[in-house]
Order: sequence, then structure tokens, then C-alpha cells
Amino acid sequence: MINFNIPPFTGRELEYIEEAVKNRKLCGDGPFTKRCNRFLEELTGATKALLTTSCTHATEMAAMLCDVGPGDEVIMPSYTFVSTADAFVLRGARAVFVDIHPETMNMDERLVEQAITESTKAIVPVHYAGVCCEMDEINRIARKHRLMVVEDAAQAILSEYKGKAAGTLGDFGCYSFHETKNLSMGEGGALLIKDAKYVERAEIIREKGTNRSKFFRGEIDKYTWVDAGSSYLPSELNAAYLWAQLEIARQIIDDRMASWNYYREALRDLADDGRIELPFIPEGCRHNAHMFFIKARDLEERTALIRFLKENGIGAVFHYVPLHSSEAGVRLGRFSGEDRYTTRESERLVRLPLYYGMGNAVEQVSAAVHEFYSAAR
Ligand SMILES: *Cc1c(COP(=O)(O)O)cnc(C)c1O
Repeated sequence: MINFNIPPFTGRELEYIEEAVKNRKLCGDGPFTKRCNRFLEELTGATKALLTTSCTHATEMAAMLCDVGPGDEVIMPSYTFVSTADAFVLRGARAVFVDIHPETMNMDERLVEQAITESTKAIVPVHYAGVCCEMDEINRIARKHRLMVVEDAAQAILSEYKGKAAGTLGDFGCYSFHETKNLSMGEGGALLIKDAKYVERAEIIREKGTNRSKFFRGEIDKYTWVDAGSSYLPSELNAAYLWAQLEIARQIIDDRMASWNYYREALRDLADDGRIELPFIPEGCRHNAHMFFIKARDLEERTALIRFLKENGIGAVFHYVPLHSSEAGVRLGRFSGEDRYTTRESERLVRLPLYYGMGNAVEQVSAAVHEFYSAAR
């Protein structure tokens, strides 16, 4: 049996969790959380990085820091995970969906400007599969129309766009450390902040609307309720697990990249014959091997392929149901322009197993895909 995903485990997680337990410091912002924050700042060049309880929560924080509220509109792809929209509709905003580039499945930056109205507050590019959107153009549009840019960089830790870290390209960047992502803490994420003027309010929102962070730094002698906020601070136990991964983050990405490259070479002939399509990495993008997908001819062929792989003990999956056609999306959003690619391409896409330390499994999966396509169909 080859699983679709196995959460990363590097070997030192239990040691660090034990250390956190012995520190008698289990709530948030202890030594491990601080170490992770600092590591992320050094890795990315972000002014501030704050671990959060999830990427969804980091995006909620970004929505609050952008002062998104009822009546506002936020532009994003329809081809994304629900959290991208949730964080903003939770504040009363409307999601405005635009179509994607079929090669990368990223939001088509050429369609953003036509989606802008008087009510638009922010643009939310999603770096699908750890491949960055065309951020120069998105940032140009945002500056011109005075909009905020929140990167959903859930899948993009250690990815780069023109030499800069994903998550530092807009005003805010949101990472996920869910167990399905390259680096994990079970459930968790991080908010990256570019402009120092947002740091204090971010700390307050993350600490239930209190200035407790300032108190712990000794800047004030008691802490109090100063703003609306929530509880977005992960436990030290989760941060300890993450620290073991961050320590060897590059090694984890390199291992995944070896599998990613193997898939691409092994399946190239099927692509050359026009049977399938492979991922495309635009110039200037350095990806993090988060995902290897192929595209079948259509929904019917994809269903047959996933079934065939399953019969051969291989877990391959598809995603996403486009948000604009989902029950909530119909109510809470609208599609701007024409859905040329979102629905059609999402129905063709299959994600193959990819995880840290998958070893020879990548060869077995590639062979099974070949077998499927060599049978007369
Ligand atoms: C995983 C993911 C999220 C949500 O991350 P959580 O940490 O589970 O909240 C959001 N957006 C995208 C694109 C994702 O892949």
C-alpha cells in the first residue's frame, strides 16, 4: 500500500516535545515557538513571523489587519481550498473569484483588474503546488488601486519568486504546517508580516485582544484587553514538533524534490505522446516540490485512473471542487468573467503520492501510471 501522504517525521520530534514538557511551559510563545518564529524570519526575510494555530487562522488575522469588513470584496481564485475564502467571508466580505492559468492552476493576473470594484479591499493570490503567482503584476495592480495583498502561501514554504521567499511578496503571507504540508506541526501555520506598523496589532489579535506580548517583554507592567482578538497561539508541544522539521527543512524539500523530478522524468514520454499533462514551472519561480499532479484527458479518464491506482494499492487524490460552484460559494461569492479553465482543468487533475522519505514508492507509482496508459483505452 502506498499512501497518498505520510506526515513528515525527522526523528527528533519526541525529544523536543519532551523538552517542552520538562520546561513546564506548554502554552504558546515559549522557547520553541520563539525559535520557530525567528527561524522563519531569517529564512524568509519577513519583518515578523508569528506561529499560529493554522494557516486558516493566519489568514483570518490578515483579514482583520486589512480591516476587511461587511460589504468589502476580496479577489481570489475559485480553484483553491475553502480557507482562502473563509477567512474573509467570516468578516462579512464577499469572495470575488477569477479564472486560473491552466498550466500552473494559479490565478490569472490578467483577469484581476477587471474584477476590481469600488468595494474591493484585497487580492489573495494562492501559490498552488508551491509555485508562485505572477506577483510583480499582482502587486502593481494592488498599488495602482490601493489594495492589500494577502498571499495564501499555505503550500509554499521555501518557494521563491524572483529570488524572494513566498509569503514575503505581499503585505501578509500565510503558511500552513498542517500534516499534509511539506513541514508540519499537526495543525498549525504562520503569519508573515512585511510592514512593521502591523506587528503590534497582530500580536494583540493573536493574544485574545490583549497586550500580553508586550507584558511578557517587560514593556508594560500589567496586561489588559485593548482590541478585538482571538486565540491564535499554538501550544509549545506543536511548536516543538515543528522545530524538528525546520532544523532540516532544506533536506526535507530536497528529498521531496528528488521524487518530484523522478515523476517528471518517468512520465515525460506520456506527456510527449499527448496522453497526459505535467506541471509547468514558470521562469523565475523556484518551487518546493509540494505536489506532483498530472492531468488526464477528462473527468472520466481521471476517475478511471484514480480507481486503477487504488486497485493497485496506491492512494491518488483529486481536489478542489471550485469554490464558486460549491454551496457556500454560490451564496458568499461571485465569479468575475468567464470560467474557461477553473472547472474544466480541476476535473482533469490527479495528485500522485508525494511525501518525505517515499523512496522507491515513486518508481512503483510511475510504473502503475504507465500501466494504466499502456492498456488499450
Ligand atoms: C492547506 C491549505 C490551507 C489551510 O491550511 P490550514 O493550516 O489547514 O488552515 C489554506 N489554503 C491552501 C491553499 C491550502 O493548501
